[in-house]
Amino acid sequence: WITTNTRAYDVAVHSSGRIPLGIKRKARRVVVTGGAGFVGSHLVDRLISRGDSVIVVDNFFTGRKENVMHHFGNPNFELIRHDVVEPLLLEVDQIYHLACPASPVHYKFNPVKTIISFRFLLFYSLNCILFVLITAIITFNNCLISSPMKMSKVLSTERTDLNNKITLVHVELDLENGILNGGSVAHKTNVVGTLNMLGLAKRVGARFLLTSTSEVYGDPLQHPQKETYWGNVNPIGVRSCYDEGKRTAETLTMDYHRGAGVEVRIARIFNTYGPRMCLDDGRVVSNFVAQALRKEALTVYGDGKQTRSFQYVSDLVEGLMRLMEGEHLGPFNLGNPGEFTMLELAKVVQETIDPEAKIDYRPNTEDDPHMRKPDISRAKELLGWEPKVDLRKGLPLMVSDFRQRIFGDQKEGAT
Ligand code: NAD
Ligand code: UDP
Ligand code: UDP
Repeated sequence: WITTNTRAYDVAVHSSGRIPLGIKRKARRVVVTGGAGFVGSHLVDRLISRGDSVIVVDNFFTGRKENVMHHFGNPNFELIRHDVVEPLLLEVDQIYHLACPASPVHYKFNPVKTIISFRFLLFYSLNCILFVLITAIITFNNCLISSPMKMSKVLSTERTDLNNKITLVHVELDLENGILNGGSVAHKTNVVGTLNMLGLAKRVGARFLLTSTSEVYGDPLQHPQKETYWGNVNPIGVRSCYDEGKRTAETLTMDYHRGAGVEVRIARIFNTYGPRMCLDDGRVVSNFVAQALRKEALTVYGDGKQTRSFQYVSDLVEGLMRLMEGEHLGPFNLGNPGEFTMLELAKVVQETIDPEAKIDYRPNTEDDPHMRKPDISRAKELLGWEPKVDLRKGLPLMVSDFRQRIFGDQKEGAT
């Protein structure tokens, strides 16, 4: 037991009386996939500050090195550029699996690549044809191949197990775009990436936490949403690469738990905001804040009466850590029950940044959920968790970060 690694967090959690952590705790080796992203980087800060050794695995599809740069040089921190769609060998105690683009703009980026699980049976039967095709393409396009690991993966497709068939499809689709090491997309990341991280957890006996989403409830017919609700997802819509991808990831997680005894945890995260969000990632809070700061009109999609519940990132990180350390699998809703229409959100942004900011109504996107609000009774009771930062308190914290990044950069550029 390493006493110096006992941190305020453990004392706080322990003193809630709900999670039998023990007063003293061993430093752990923790992997955070997607750790260079918005939520992941805040989680990494907390894990490092309590003394854990943290390995961030990220392909920088939507994440940024800047988010974790302050840990460079810390012997307890390691950053690996890696796409979780590819297998990964590490020795660790815990895996926080966050890797996945979360903004609709990002995850809709290449819907063709997201088709894997839906057409899986078809791919199964097309395996031989694809293999011949890909081998031919690779033979004539060696110049495209930038990674020996990929090459060996492609050449190993004579094996007939499930994983290699998925790998084969992955490579074929990447070739279609002329990029062998291109960015991953939601569905591939959710299905193949989650499978790999579960395989890793199984091999080393690590505890695995999946960051799922409120999107598994789709356009909900139950309000607020409880974890027992099975959802209302359009399986063929433009959002389904993400929604169904996360649903499949939840299924895989439970199957590895039931079938292979992997210790798992599932969090269903509701809309979260805070510092380090991508400036132009298309999500509503980041859009409104950046627009108001730049003196642009706030783009409200549709009539603006659809609702969301907005959670500040530190509350989420606290919930994720409690879930990982606790004894309950979940799924747990982690979100702030404070519900706002997009017009109400726009008003809060105007009050916080610029009361003169105008509203620009735009057509809404397809399949946009009409309302969303978490029922967090389960997390309150079993994790002793509830959010502490409401929108009016959290928004200014994000605004200072955005202001610094937007205007700080401009000033630097001008000098
Ligand atoms: P983000 O886009 O900022 O972070 C995702 C990170 O994953 C990025 O650093 C990205 O580069 C990395 N990544 C993506 N695909 C990868 C791959 N194939 N291999 C390796 N790294 C990959 O998003 P976020 O808001 O920080 O979300 C983190 C997690 O939380 C995601 O799983 C998301 O689905 C979930 N979530 C977030 C919200 C939210 O409102 N922020 C809501 C629900 C669920
Ligand atoms: N895997 C991984 N790292 C590991 C162990 C497994 O990336 O340390 C991957 C492995 O390549 C496979 C997936 O996880 O694609 C599932 O592994 P599992 O052992 O469950 O399945 P199998 O390899 O037997 O199909
Ligand atoms: N939205 C909006 N203006 C924007 C971006 C989004 O009105 O500039 C709306 C969007 O239509 C949706 C809500 O805000 O109803 C939340 O969108 P976001 O992409 O942030 O999250 P998600 O749809 O995944 O909950």
